[in-house]
Amino acid sequence: MPNKKDIIIKGVAASPGIAIGKVFLLENNDFCLIRKEIPKNKREGEKKRLNDAIEKTKAELKVTHDKINSVLGKNYARIADVHLLILDDPSIRKDVYKFINDGVNAEYAIFKVIDKIVHSFETIEDDYFKERTLDIQDIGKKILGNLLGKQRTTLASSNGDSIVVSHNLTPADTVAIKEKLVKGFAADIGGKTSHTAIVAQGLAIPAVAGLKTISSQAKTGDTIIVDGNKGKIILSPTAATLAKYKKECSIQFAKRKELEKLKDLPAETIDNHKVLIFANIDNPDEVQSVLDSGAIGIGLYRTEFMYFNRKTMPSEKDHFEEYFKVAEAMSPYPTIIRTIDLGGDKLTRMGLLNIEQEENPFLGLRAIRLCLKYPNIFINQLRGVLKASAYGKIRLMYPMISSLEELHEANKILEKVKQDLKKEHIKFDEKIEVGSMIEVPSAVMIIDAIAKEVDFVSIGTNDLIQYTLAVDRVNENVASLYDPLHPTILRFIKRIIDESHKAGIDVGMCGEMAGDPYYTPVLLGLGLDEFSVASVQIPKIKRVIRNISFENVQRIAEEVLKCGDRDSISKIISSVQIQ
Ligand code: PEP
Ligand code: MG
Repeated sequence: MPNKKDIIIKGVAASPGIAIGKVFLLENNDFCLIRKEIPKNKREGEKKRLNDAIEKTKAELKVTHDKINSVLGKNYARIADVHLLILDDPSIRKDVYKFINDGVNAEYAIFKVIDKIVHSFETIEDDYFKERTLDIQDIGKKILGNLLGKQRTTLASSNGDSIVVSHNLTPADTVAIKEKLVKGFAADIGGKTSHTAIVAQGLAIPAVAGLKTISSQAKTGDTIIVDGNKGKIILSPTAATLAKYKKECSIQFAKRKELEKLKDLPAETIDNHKVLIFANIDNPDEVQSVLDSGAIGIGLYRTEFMYFNRKTMPSEKDHFEEYFKVAEAMSPYPTIIRTIDLGGDKLTRMGLLNIEQEENPFLGLRAIRLCLKYPNIFINQLRGVLKASAYGKIRLMYPMISSLEELHEANKILEKVKQDLKKEHIKFDEKIEVGSMIEVPSAVMIIDAIAKEVDFVSIGTNDLIQYTLAVDRVNENVASLYDPLHPTILRFIKRIIDESHKAGIDVGMCGEMAGDPYYTPVLLGLGLDEFSVASVQIPKIKRVIRNISFENVQRIAEEVLKCGDRDSISKIISSVQIQ
């Protein structure tokens, strides 16, 4: 019997694209646990059972780690590293022993200890800790599985054409996803910073997370549509919905094929105005997709991602190795390395940096402020960047500059690091270009002064919009007010571009606005020199640029700048969309 009504569940858009397929349900495996009394003479045996289960789990995780490393690379393998670190934590074993010494069975003891850790993490208002809670729970389940001799359903038994539905995605599953060519993914939990999202985006698999109940509503074999663009899934769709999405899928596929042809063509308008298209990356494993996309540089390397999923601070060597890898692979194209932007929604990693939770992290000790307050962290990174600059075309960029004083202070530290390296006879690019992100209104108002002192600027619209319009960039309640087409934002962009050009420097944009083809005509018309966007967006932006006339979009930009309201602006912009 065909379904009469779509079952629509809304979640978080974790990775773009549409996938249609059959559900493969990865069961949650919440084990049924019984508390048993263990007599004194059997307690050592119980500890041995526990240790054997932990060792078995470790061996399994090592296999997973090596597989992830070979299939997805070192950065993804860190997910398994975190699990191994948790297993090696002596305090966990000590706490479990305490329970066993009190006479309870190993299963119940491990369950109680994990539950306590999870509870304490849940009280911390920080997304990072929420995600780590999932890691701890996952580890607990693995040990319990080995104690009880039960195994979680794995993807090894899927038919390779499935949409994986689960409560959460584990590292082992992610490998299987790559190997088995899974089409899409839907999970009960996880947000934009979850492993689900990180891995799915890296593999370009459509995914929706945060669906809350999907793993209890879906059954293996059900038809499902994952709409990673809109952040929803449709379970048991009606024939009409299925037909609509199938059509959308084939349109998407044809568009992708068409766009691939643009890879080696320049980003040039029909009247020969050329701009640069660069890519944004979070880790070195993305370089190959950057090169495959036709980008001719990296316009934003968000280096703070190096601080995630680790227990110790990255060393100078860690910094150097990551930047060396990227710069060498991108050479002769440039790589703009942004110094760390921790804080705000990028989690302070309290354990790592030992910084207290703040009331208003977006207005707090974030980005360059944190680096200037803790110069050793900054110096460590600058030494890594400068050393790598001997092996490729690296440019350095500071985030969240809000005054000239901050710029001066950062440059002073940079100068000192350069002098130290010279004394140590270490090679580096002495003429390394230094730029500033423009993402705070105060920086926009003094852009004339900033532009005279840097080699380039890049507009960070994600923050510029947030700070200018007083709209939290991650708060769903005010999402409709977060508007790139607010007249103030467009006038700010115009001001940044004009003043920078007067000073003879180029202007890039690395915020999400640059990666949305809807805004491409107006940004081009305003005079933007470089668009830095996610690799998958590059052909789409290039296609728009290659189909418009610079003269025409300049006129459009002039018109738009006269408007005082959003509606008039979007009416004008909608009239120049390339279909
Ligand atoms: C921005 O603010 O636009 C930007 C690119 O930086 P991030 O998103 O990393 O804050
Ligand atoms: Mg920013």
